[in-house]
Amino acid sequence: MKVTLLLFSLCFFLSAIGQTRQVCFTYDDLPVVAYGTTDSAFQQGLTDRLVSTLVKNRIPAIGFVNERKMYNMGQVDPVQLALLRTWTNHGLDLGNHTFSHPDYNKVTYREFTKDVLKGETLTRKLLQEKGSPLKYFRHPFLHVGETKAKADSLETFLRDHLYTVAPVTIDNEDYLFALAYHRANAKKDTVLMKKIGTDFLSYLEAKVKYYERQSVALFGREIPQILLLHASLLNSVYAGALAAMFRRNGYSFVSLDTALEDAAHQTPVTVYGKWGISWIDKWALSKGKKGEFFKGEPETPDYIKKLTE
Ligand SMILES: [Zn+2]
Repeated sequence: MKVTLLLFSLCFFLSAIGQTRQVCFTYDDLPVVAYGTTDSAFQQGLTDRLVSTLVKNRIPAIGFVNERKMYNMGQVDPVQLALLRTWTNHGLDLGNHTFSHPDYNKVTYREFTKDVLKGETLTRKLLQEKGSPLKYFRHPFLHVGETKAKADSLETFLRDHLYTVAPVTIDNEDYLFALAYHRANAKKDTVLMKKIGTDFLSYLEAKVKYYERQSVALFGREIPQILLLHASLLNSVYAGALAAMFRRNGYSFVSLDTALEDAAHQTPVTVYGKWGISWIDKWALSKGKKGEFFKGEPETPDYIKKLTE
């Protein structure tokens, strides 16, 4: 009886200290971000480590695919197909990230939408094998259209093709850390790799805190966060540590479906620009927030930027 009471109190305590915080992990540029490393054992190893860590931590992540990476000399590359199957075989979701990662700021609506449709063939088939629909679309560079007309026409196109846009709330430069880490790994500089990994975790934790504050400033509460990451070596090695960081901060891991159920995600965006920024920033700009409001966003360390030059 005492044990039951103790467990009950513990559960109550855990919910009271903020188990209500939610985050969805999203990974872009699948099947894999390998920076030119074509070794299939490296790519499969990276993917296995990432996916198994997500599964072990019960993180219902989603990966966004660039199908151009799936082809070799015009043929579907079985290695790349196996990488994507690693995701779907473990019950993880996939979404469309266009075929060739075009920049909507630089191409026309016609060119862009053609690339969207070209990018859905294999992903749709892989999801169908699991009885799941292809539902989500993530804009490359988070560029949704630099004018209202261009943004509206793409939004209508995506809706007509039954896509739901996958927003990002915790925007960050994980790709810079990842490239620096990849280069350090190529040089077998384990000291530098460790430093990059440790700094990456502190940087992301600071970003999380920043967007928690921005969320409260904008909505008066913390909304379910959507974290943007890439399918890189760095993220495959640090996925477990990242999950532990979120848990330590009282987060539970949710799917994109669950995160988007929150009404805050229906907040209209009424400002447009060439930027690729967090939806929280776009909602803030739409509500008339100015410079001061955005102060205090954590910066990528200079040495990381230098390592990626
Ligand atoms: Zn991308």
